[in-house]
Amino acid sequence: MDLSFSPEHEAFRKRVRGWIRTHMPKKEKDAQPLEFGDPKRIAAMKQWQRHLHEAGFVALGWPKEYGGQAAGIVEQTIVNEELLLARAPGLIGMMGIQMVGPTLIQFGTEEQKRRYLPKILTADDIWCQGYSEPGSGSDLASLKTRAELVGDQFIINGQKVWTSNAQFADWMFCLVRTDPDAPKHRGISYVLIDMKTPGITVRPLIQMTGDAGFNEVFFEDVRVPRTNLIGELNQGWLIANATLAHERNMLGSTTRTQQMFNGLVRLAKVHRRYGRPAAADPVMRQRLADLEIRVAAMKYHSFRQLTDAIKKRPTGIAASVNKLVSTELNHDIAACAMEVMGSYGTLARTSRRVIDRGMWPVEFMFTLGLVIGGGTSQIQKNIISERGLGMPR
Ligand SMILES: Cc1cc2nc3c(=O)[nH]c(=O)nc-3n(C[C@H](O)[C@H](O)[C@H](O)COP(=O)(O)OP(=O)(O)OC[C@H]3O[C@@H](n4cnc5c(N)ncnc54)[C@H](O)[C@@H]3O)c2cc1C
Repeated sequence: MDLSFSPEHEAFRKRVRGWIRTHMPKKEKDAQPLEFGDPKRIAAMKQWQRHLHEAGFVALGWPKEYGGQAAGIVEQTIVNEELLLARAPGLIGMMGIQMVGPTLIQFGTEEQKRRYLPKILTADDIWCQGYSEPGSGSDLASLKTRAELVGDQFIINGQKVWTSNAQFADWMFCLVRTDPDAPKHRGISYVLIDMKTPGITVRPLIQMTGDAGFNEVFFEDVRVPRTNLIGELNQGWLIANATLAHERNMLGSTTRTQQMFNGLVRLAKVHRRYGRPAAADPVMRQRLADLEIRVAAMKYHSFRQLTDAIKKRPTGIAASVNKLVSTELNHDIAACAMEVMGSYGTLARTSRRVIDRGMWPVEFMFTLGLVIGGGTSQIQKNIISERGLGMPR
């Protein structure tokens, strides 16, 4: 097995690294997290994505006619890695690029692809995901938001919850019930909703990090043209699952996990517990070794997934394995950092004595959210056992 990159790919990596070094925006002091919806920050984030897109580094695998580069998955992997290594700002349009975009390429009509895809890349349209509802999270197919087809319009009534980024999104890809009498998986449709349509109310929800990253979204007689339907009426479940597989891959990044682990090791070498660096404690060393083994295993799993993608082999349950392993590992790394810091871990971000700019308590809370979001660990284990290992339901 040859796990090294080809000379062409290494040359590409060098070019990407050089570009990022010269174009990366300066970190704004005291910048609010994106979740606060500051229009100046949103405009700056859109500008950053636009810049990257103009350089040809966004959605490299997409066909050229929709704004992509028709490049390989290896090039995209290299760009993602380099952005993370440089600690570059994330992309504001990630849900468009990684979730609804690939879904539209697979299931959209030609007209829908031409209308929506280019604006995803230029960050003119920011997307959010309207799947979960009160009472319909893990059991997503029980969703109740009703869309009635009247003439050439859907009239939508109901509620979504935990909708990340709805506070500044332009569009939502949404699951709605179009046939209440059909078995639950067969009465769902996948529609695109302009968030400026009358009848939509967005209410922020505060997370335990203190930020308001997600929202409740209410629909009252919201009129959506039938042309915003993706795929066939009542066939949305299949399309919804394609988007979910893309989401599960988005949530697991080996480079980010490796960076978090490197940060933990640095912390354990510097921070002193009981009169010596935490890393000198044999029990802590054992914990670190255990985490490092899991990071390495995750890396090799991602190489296998990359190989499958290059060879166009079906990925099977790989996305679920990736989501399960990476989100739990990230949380365990943050939990270990909290233990290394002891009571310093409870200090507020603004405290003078805070360690690593207060990132670890935030990571500890945020990564727990990602163990739940995109389908909980228990649900991933169900998928792996039933669809991967063929175990009975
Ligand atoms: C940070 C974050 C961001 C999110 N962003 C979005 C978003 O943008 N859009 C969106 O639509 N949703 C979003 N969600 C919602 C997310 O998809 C749901 O929270 C998730 O699917 C779980 O659903 P639930 O919260 O209703 O929990 P429940 O489904 O009520 O689950 C409660 C507990 O029961 C367990 N459980 C349930 N069913 C089973 C089963 N069959 N077998 C074993 N255990 C089971 C679960 O694992 C969990 O521990 C987000 C969530 C988080 C935390």
